[in-house]
Amino acid sequence: MKIDSLQSWGIDPTRPLVISGPCSAESEEQMLETARGLKSLGIQIFRAGIWKPRTRPNMFEGVGSVGLKWLKKVKEETGMLTATEVATAKHVYEALKMGVDILWIGARTSANPFAVQEVADALQGADIPVIIKNPVNPDLELWLGAIERIAGAGITKLAAIHRGFSAFDKGRYRNEPRWQVVVELHRRLPALPIICDPSHIAGSSEFIYEISQKAMNLGLDGLIIESHNNPSVALSDAKQQLTPTQVGEMLQKLVIRNVESDNVEFKQSLEELRQKIDVLDNDILNLLQQRMSVVQEIGKNKKENNIQILQPGRWEQIIEKSKKEAKTRGFSEEFVEKVFKAIHQESINIQNQILNS
Ligand code: PEP
Ligand code: MN
Repeated sequence: MKIDSLQSWGIDPTRPLVISGPCSAESEEQMLETARGLKSLGIQIFRAGIWKPRTRPNMFEGVGSVGLKWLKKVKEETGMLTATEVATAKHVYEALKMGVDILWIGARTSANPFAVQEVADALQGADIPVIIKNPVNPDLELWLGAIERIAGAGITKLAAIHRGFSAFDKGRYRNEPRWQVVVELHRRLPALPIICDPSHIAGSSEFIYEISQKAMNLGLDGLIIESHNNPSVALSDAKQQLTPTQVGEMLQKLVIRNVESDNVEFKQSLEELRQKIDVLDNDILNLLQQRMSVVQEIGKNKKENNIQILQPGRWEQIIEKSKKEAKTRGFSEEFVEKVFKAIHQESINIQNQILNS
């Protein structure tokens, strides 16, 4: 897959690359006022949703094509590049015709190969940056598939947006970050710039900073942050939008980490610590192997005595004990529970094989 660097987008590729603007275009005044504030911070790319894919009907579905004129005004007045979401061929044709500089594909669209292909077909022959948000569900293959479809249309100015994954149980954030999916995307496509969308992960303005800092700690390339001149009256995603001034304050606070260091001492100590980790990882695997051989013994006993695998009381005991242990060791309960659930699942699989043998 041919992927051009961010430089090719016609911007100064600052770290992080920042894209900001309202969730939705609402009026010419709202767009221009927000854009002026962002421009004064040196932000180079202005975002605004024109067509809004809403989860439930009867919510604000965007102003439609008229918003493209306002985007054009923003570009003329501020010189910022403009970006909007496209979900159908019609959106692509209209946005290209009106000179929108950058297009993005939303999370609900990325989850639908037919829709992504329609957008890809409409993009044939265009030379425009296209950013692909992760699908709503944490399916890396589906995300990669969407990127491949757009690349297949000849688009080489590509990037991904990490906006988190929806879940039935609401946690601290509106969408679960599942950072591991992003780390794996980077491993699979090392040249693809990855931009974090802390606004849609957070769902609330109070978490934007902590998520942005985490993205910077991981070394992601940019941030797309929703901003509004008056967030409290925003017609969509009001709770998660910042004012341009707040965006500026947030960016000021962010610590940007270096990719590498020339410091020999640092490199040496990092190498030593990594070797320690490799040894410990090996110890963990050896212990797991020992544990599973005990599980096999139990499986054989259960088979001989015709006993079912699941002993619910026992499982409760293990979880409760490990949660207590988590506290004394400074781990989160969630982490320890996840680890033990995975171990328990593997134990069930092993015993099941024995019972079936
Ligand atoms: C948006 O960027 O406003 C949007 C609709 O985001 P997502 O596709 O991530 O839900
Ligand atoms: Mn939004």
